[in-house]
Amino acid sequence: FMSRKFFVGGNWKCNGTTEEVKKIVSTLNEAEVPSHDVVEVVVSPPFVFLTLVKSLLRSDFHVAAQNCWVRKGGAFTGEVSAEMLVNLGIPWVIIGHSERRALLNESNEFVGDKVAYALSQGLKVIACIGETLEQRESGSTMSVVAAQTKAIADKITNWDNVVLAYEPVWAIGTGKVATPAQAQEVHCELRKWLSENVGADVAASTRIIYGGSVNGANCQELAGQPDVDGFLVGGASLKPEFVDIIKSAT
Ligand code: PEP
Repeated sequence: FMSRKFFVGGNWKCNGTTEEVKKIVSTLNEAEVPSHDVVEVVVSPPFVFLTLVKSLLRSDFHVAAQNCWVRKGGAFTGEVSAEMLVNLGIPWVIIGHSERRALLNESNEFVGDKVAYALSQGLKVIACIGETLEQRESGSTMSVVAAQTKAIADKITNWDNVVLAYEPVWAIGTGKVATPAQAQEVHCELRKWLSENVGADVAASTRIIYGGSVNGANCQELAGQPDVDGFLVGGASLKPEFVDIIKSAT
């Protein structure tokens, strides 16, 4: 059994002013949380605030970008490359968030390519997958998340620097959190998929985190599920209750 350190990510999405960002960081810096041996904490501000947050944030927490370009940088106006993140000392990147899949038409294959390229440049990746309400209601949850995971697995060989974020689309930003049983069922199936299609060691060691309306009140019960290895938090990561979510690691 390889132990999976609890992982809590905060996805700030397209939010914040300089003043708001400084306030969130100071709240985090003052918080008493379990040690880095117990929980890994990563916050993901918009690109323009990455260096500010990195410079102010306590050294036991880390930063993630919310996206990066699929290949080497160059003539891609408006994009930010993996090389640039590495150059700035940003260790993590979120890839394949459902908002980008839905609003910017990022396909499974494109997401797989992005994960592979980011890893090749030395970034660590929070790779997001998840089904829509329609897909869940039609009984295709597992086939959807398996296809999303396969598109990543097809492009990478080393999972050491990957955290898989299961985020049902119907639960993101809706206040409709998955029940602990619903989350556990999919996480368990995903681990089984990894075991059968990638390898038993990868299945045992890869963190599978849950995202979708996690807050200070519902995190504890979700965290108690055996295959829930942490959270990716949107709305609540902008609020002081993010500290309570970090504390659910213990
Ligand atoms: C997210 O965007 O990754 C997310 C889980 O959002 P929220 O917590 O607001 O549902």
